[in-house]
Amino acid sequence: MSEDFLLLNPGPVPLSDAVRRAMDEPMVSHRSDAFEAVYERAQDGLAYVFTQSTPEGSTTGTGTPLVLNGTATMGMEMAVANLTDDDSEVVALVNGKFGRRFKRIADRHARVTPVEVEWGQSFDLEAVDDAITDETDVVTVVHNETSTGLLNPVREVGDIAREHDALFVVDGVTSIGGDEFRIDDWNVDVAITDGQKALAAPPGISALFVTDRAVERADGESAPFYEDMDWHLRKADQHQTPFTSAVPLFRALAVAVEEIEAEGMPDRIARHREQARAFREGFAALGLAGFPDADGPTELSNTLTAIALPETIRSDAGAFFDAVDERNVSISGGQAHLGGEIFRVSNMGNLTSEQVVRGVRTVGEALGDVGVECDVDAGVAAARDQLD
Ligand code: PLP
Repeated sequence: MSEDFLLLNPGPVPLSDAVRRAMDEPMVSHRSDAFEAVYERAQDGLAYVFTQSTPEGSTTGTGTPLVLNGTATMGMEMAVANLTDDDSEVVALVNGKFGRRFKRIADRHARVTPVEVEWGQSFDLEAVDDAITDETDVVTVVHNETSTGLLNPVREVGDIAREHDALFVVDGVTSIGGDEFRIDDWNVDVAITDGQKALAAPPGISALFVTDRAVERADGESAPFYEDMDWHLRKADQHQTPFTSAVPLFRALAVAVEEIEAEGMPDRIARHREQARAFREGFAALGLAGFPDADGPTELSNTLTAIALPETIRSDAGAFFDAVDERNVSISGGQAHLGGEIFRVSNMGNLTSEQVVRGVRTVGEALGDVGVECDVDAGVAAARDQLD
């Protein structure tokens, strides 16, 4: 293989050298001053990312960032389990695999009213408005639906949730750290993200931002023991976790969020938007069609791109993915029933323009290998046109 391995899956994403090195330092106790200093750095960086992810760099929201030993699914469960009990009602918005996961989590802890549309389709805000009532305790939504490449209308849903005084829990797993996210302006009460996505940290840890409004209403009594939010919040005040912290991962996260702060969220958001445009335009110039339907209040994702596979290769999509692998590039297929129908590439984290161009070229060449005629040079040129 001639070129370096290029990881373009929508998580985990490539790590910087400094983030990787941070995991290789000598071990310390998770109850030491040295660890507390690491957690504090991670909290400071996360507070920046959670509250200043706006194109203009303004601040939106106050609350507490928490880091969990576990991926974002744990964070999703922690949020729902601490804000509900058996008598609570959750309205769960589902238009993809991760919206469905949120609903499944909520099913275990409360009564759920789902608002479901086909994966890859936009929500009908009137249906959302009908489903959320004064009886609703919690509303869940995925901001950036990784399974389909859609950016859901969090602001609009948040307005409806607030009108009914429901708590608003948002999965920002593949947007936070790469795209705009507004805690106060969108009425978000708990936001969740994963280490391994746009934060460009390793997999295995996740982060929550818990606003004061959510803290007031949280009750850890019925939550899983490991996910008692109140306990995590009390310990977070002392830069500690209730149980043994994943020390190397916390260290890596501290460096990753400091790198984000050094780049600055306005520039980082602009870069992610530019790179997503480059992927979209590059693939379009190869003759490919985007998968999701961004009509209505939904938009196309700025952190990952989902593309429909040409009909002619769907019966043997494996050959296409093998041809991509042979070029030392890793991309993702569709999840669940979308397997064999789409492919997905990520631009989360710290990709260079050249890596984005290589992604487009690789897909074009791999399609050529499996008999799909496409103009690779046109794809590369269209991607380059979007990049600085
Ligand atoms: N939510 C979204 C939107 C995701 O993309 C992911 C991971 O891909 C998750 C949640 C959490 O998944 P996991 O806990 O497997 O990291």
